[in-house]
Formats: sequence, structure tokens, C-alpha cells
Amino acid sequence: MKRYSAFAVAREAFRHHTGWERAWRRPEPKKKYDVIIIGAGGHGLATAYYLGKRFGIKNVAILEKGWLGGGNTGRNTTIIRSNYLQDPSAAIYEKSRSLYETMSQDLNYNVMYSPRGVMMLAQTEHEVRGYKRTAHANTLQGVKTEFISPQRVKELCPIMNIDGPRYPVLGALWQDRAGTARHDAVAWGYARACSDMGMDIIQKCEVTGIRQADGRVQGVSTTKGEIDCDKLGIVVAGHSGVLADMAGFRLPIESVALQALVSEPIKPCMDVVVMANTVHGYMSQSDKGEMVIGGGTDGYNNYTQRGSFHHIEETVRALVETFPMISRLKMLRQWGGIVDVTGDRSPILSKTPLGNCFINCGWGTGGFKAIPGSGFGFAELMAKGHSPLTDAFGLNRFAEGRFIDESVAAGVAH
Ligand SMILES: Cc1cc2nc3c(=O)[nH]c(=O)nc-3n(C[C@H](O)[C@H](O)[C@H](O)COP(=O)(O)OP(=O)(O)OC[C@H]3O[C@@H](n4cnc5c(N)ncnc54)[C@H](O)[C@@H]3O)c2cc1C
Repeated sequence: MKRYSAFAVAREAFRHHTGWERAWRRPEPKKKYDVIIIGAGGHGLATAYYLGKRFGIKNVAILEKGWLGGGNTGRNTTIIRSNYLQDPSAAIYEKSRSLYETMSQDLNYNVMYSPRGVMMLAQTEHEVRGYKRTAHANTLQGVKTEFISPQRVKELCPIMNIDGPRYPVLGALWQDRAGTARHDAVAWGYARACSDMGMDIIQKCEVTGIRQADGRVQGVSTTKGEIDCDKLGIVVAGHSGVLADMAGFRLPIESVALQALVSEPIKPCMDVVVMANTVHGYMSQSDKGEMVIGGGTDGYNNYTQRGSFHHIEETVRALVETFPMISRLKMLRQWGGIVDVTGDRSPILSKTPLGNCFINCGWGTGGFKAIPGSGFGFAELMAKGHSPLTDAFGLNRFAEGRFIDESVAAGVAH
């Protein structure tokens, strides 16, 4: 595949952009692959990419029931940070954040990683204690974060009202190399690299059954026919329970819609990401100028990928006290995605009761930031049978009571 470069852009400008290749091929499925990954979201594509790049496993198909990146990967608010509390989480999220720093160069695709800084506001004494504890834990883990004063918060984000009547800002957990990236570009960059390695990304191909014999997966039944494989990776976020059911095991997971919305575009007014977990809302400004606003999950399990009016009202009402200026904005769009939430708010990257079947799920409301790190570790787990990055996230932790409690870092936050 031809490299993207300033020279290529100039060359194509001269020939009216007639020379660009398709970014990825549109193959029909083969009869058999070494590895099948179900789900062409960021995690599935990153897994395939690292299977090829790190382990030379390239006879891989990625099966997607819709279009690639059309699940949560293309619906999230793109916050990237690694200020989690527990050691296994800090390891995988910080690996991921560091891979984002060089992703555009690695993939030869501009994913617009913007390390503009993320702050998590402390608006109760309880949050002050919780975030100071996280900052100390992060120092020990080698993750650079700090607890900052209300005055520093105001300096970093002048549009904020830090003296709100109900919840004044008492400080914030600040990570200066955290930020955002263009979510579609992350999926497209990985897809292009996978296709370039000869992998087949097969869209509009829903897996409807998992065929097995003697405790091992033989292949999958799909809307494009039967496909065999030596190993299977299930990476379908909110549909993990459905696929686990096809494979014959149960997951400790709930599926629920998470919503977000954007305003009309306005002039640049905010160059950091702010999360306010007590009132439950978070906001950043996109490169187009829209205020990107994230809300909460629906209060009941469901599989609807859409927004609802009461969430707009709740989220905007929560944020107006801290950001009075948004009361004058028009809201343009809202949407939802189905997230997969575990009891300890940590992901599952694991072997399953089926010998050659692996599962990567449970990223809940915060898995965009984890895409490269998750793919890096999960590929190793699939290729070698274990990975230092994923060992703590096995399914067995629920039976053995080894929870990785991230309810402060990920309970409502992203
Ligand atoms: C509104 C919202 C805001 C969010 N904000 C953030 C944020 O700011 N920061 C952050 O880190 N995370 C955020 N997240 C979470 C993040 O988006 C997800 O954790 C992450 O994208 C999950 O990626 P994935 O690849 O596992 O899943 P997905 O991108 O959902 O991909 C799974 C794919 O599997 C496919 N699939 C399902 N069933 C089948 C089947 N039977 N056959 C074939 N294919 C199938 C789906 O069509 C889908 O494309 C947010 C999520 C939402 C919804």
C-alpha cells in the first residue's frame, strides 16, 4: 500500500485526486482462517493489527455485522487518560496512552491525538480524598498525574465557574498528557494497516452461531456462510453476552446504553477536557468547535443505540452550574452506544471455557482510551496463552474474588 505523506498529498492535488487507493479491501470470506476476530471496533481491529505486527499471524478475518467502527468506537467522546487506581489498570491504560502518542506515525494515519490534558473535578470532600489517593497511587505506578488547586483549575479552564452554589470546585485530578483523538481515524488507521498485511475485514457479516466440538471452537456461522478457524476472539462490547450465549458460557456483565451530545460549533473557548463526576457530565471542544458533552448510562439494561430527551435535560442541567455559558448554546445531535459493564468496572481479557476461544469485553463507559493497549495485550494472550498486561483481567477473578475495583476511576467517568 502506498504511504500517506505530504509529497503524496501534493502529487494527488496535481492530478485531481485520481490516484488514491482504497484504504482497505472488501474481500469475500475464505473457508478457513488461523484466527477469526468477531467485531471490527477499535479493540477487535487493534487485536488483529498486533497479531500481525508482533506475532506474524496474518491469516486473520475480522467479521463485523455492520460497518467497521460503527459501534461504540465511532460513538464515544474520545477521552484518553490513564489515571486509574489499581496497578493492573494503570499498567494497561498507561501502555495504551503511550501507544496513542505515536499511533499516527506507527499506522501512517493521522489519528489527531491531542494531549491537551484531562481534569477530573473534585466537588465534594469525598472526591478530594479519592483523587488525592489516586494521585499518590499514580506516582507509585509511574503515571504522571497531580492533584491541583481550584485556582489552577480556573487558570486552565477560564470558562468554568468554580464557586457554584451547590458543588464548588475544590480541586481536580489533572493529567497533562491525557487528551483526545479522532475516534473514526483510530478504527480506519488500524483497518488500513490490517488490510495491508493481507487480513480480511468482512463487513455486513453477522455471526449467528459458534460451532464447536470436544470443547473447542470449529468455526462460526455467519450471514455470509460457514467459516472455520483455529482460534476465535470475541470482541463485541455491548453484545458480549449474546456471543457468550452462542458459545455456551455466561458473563458477569450488563449491557446498557450510554449517551452523548454535541452543541453547535463555536469559537475556541476550552482547550482541556473536563470531567465532573459528582454532577455527572463531562465536556471538551472538538476541532470543529462543537462542545462534546457526555452524559450517563440509562438506568436499565437495554440494547438501544439511541439518545433520549431526559438525558439531554439531566446532563445539561448538571453542567450548567459549572459552565454557565452552555445555557446559551443550541444542541445539535445526540446519540447512544451499548456499553458492557462489569461489577468491578474493569475489563475482561480472558480465555474462556472453550479451549481456543478468547474474550475481550467489559470496557464499559471507558474503553476508547484502552484500544491500543488492549489490542497489544489481547493479541499476546491469543498468540501465546498469556500476557503480563492481561493476566489480572481473567474471567476467573469473579469466581476467586480478585476484583479490580475501579468504581472511582470508571464508575461514571470515561
Ligand atoms: C456515548 C459514549 C461515550 C463514550 N466515551 C468514552 C470516552 O470518552 N473515552 C473512552 O475511553 N471510552 C468511551 N466510551 C466507551 C468506548 O466507546 C468503548 O469502550 C469502546 O469503543 C469499545 O470498543 P470495542 O471495539 O470493544 O466495541 P465496538 O466499537 O462497539 O465494536 C464492537 C463491534 O462488534 C460488532 N458486533 C456485535 N455483534 C456482532 C456479531 N454478532 N457479529 C459480528 N459483529 C458483531 C458491532 O457491530 C461493533 O461494531 C464511550 C462510549 C459511548 C457509547
